[in-house]
Amino acid sequence: MSRRVGLGAAVAAALWAGCTASPVAVSPTSEPAAPPTQAAPTAMPTVLPLGTVPAITITPVFPPPGSTPEPTATPAATPVVHVVNGNDLLAPVNKRNSLPANFAPGDLSDVPVTMAVRAGIRLRRAALEAVQAMVAEAQAQGLQPVVISGFRPYQEQEVLYRGYVARMGEERASRISAVPGHSEHQMGTTIDFSSPSAGYQLEVAFEATREGRWLLQNAVRFGFVLSYPRGKETVTGYAYEPWHYRYLGIETASAVNASGLTLTEYLNQR
Ligand SMILES: [Zn+2]
Repeated sequence: MSRRVGLGAAVAAALWAGCTASPVAVSPTSEPAAPPTQAAPTAMPTVLPLGTVPAITITPVFPPPGSTPEPTATPAATPVVHVVNGNDLLAPVNKRNSLPANFAPGDLSDVPVTMAVRAGIRLRRAALEAVQAMVAEAQAQGLQPVVISGFRPYQEQEVLYRGYVARMGEERASRISAVPGHSEHQMGTTIDFSSPSAGYQLEVAFEATREGRWLLQNAVRFGFVLSYPRGKETVTGYAYEPWHYRYLGIETASAVNASGLTLTEYLNQR
């Protein structure tokens, strides 16, 4: 079940820093299913012009209680956190590896509002050029992938993570939101996509849209990899996110795909 929350522009601008983060309307699928007599889901979302501020819902997938083992990403002993160089496109930024709190890339540029949900979303230059080429090709085929979030500074991660923890506790929050310093979004090379057909939401339903399917098939050609695939929560430590793509460059993205490993495993073993 999902809910929509209307947000003021200022609030939305802060929250759309992205997927693993926004403390709005998180609806785990472990909630009881709606009774069959309930009205059908709402009609297709209204298509909004790019650059406007729609409502947003984030619906991560949690496995049903008891159906799968709890994630093993959190060992009993306190894990050693390594601090990595965020300027390295292939830096392993994950549960075990963090970026310095003061790290921000030096070559951030704005994503054109013609392909973003709002103005002011920033990416590193290489990632921006790649996403522009990718979106242009998708648009030429009549698709409308939309950038929902990009670079997310450390301080913004802190606010969002604290919000999640307050609402659902640390264990659950950590499955959908990065501990500050551990977000790939801080690298400026990671993008959350949605589409008008998905109501500009970061929801698992995005995978079934034409845009979601196209990205899954084609992103690697432009150097992007899906960081948190379905069914890999125990490996990545994060719930499935069909909207979250990280730029690695074409050569590495292809190698990750060919390896059959998750990005987390691939980068950890370098
Ligand atoms: Zn994301």
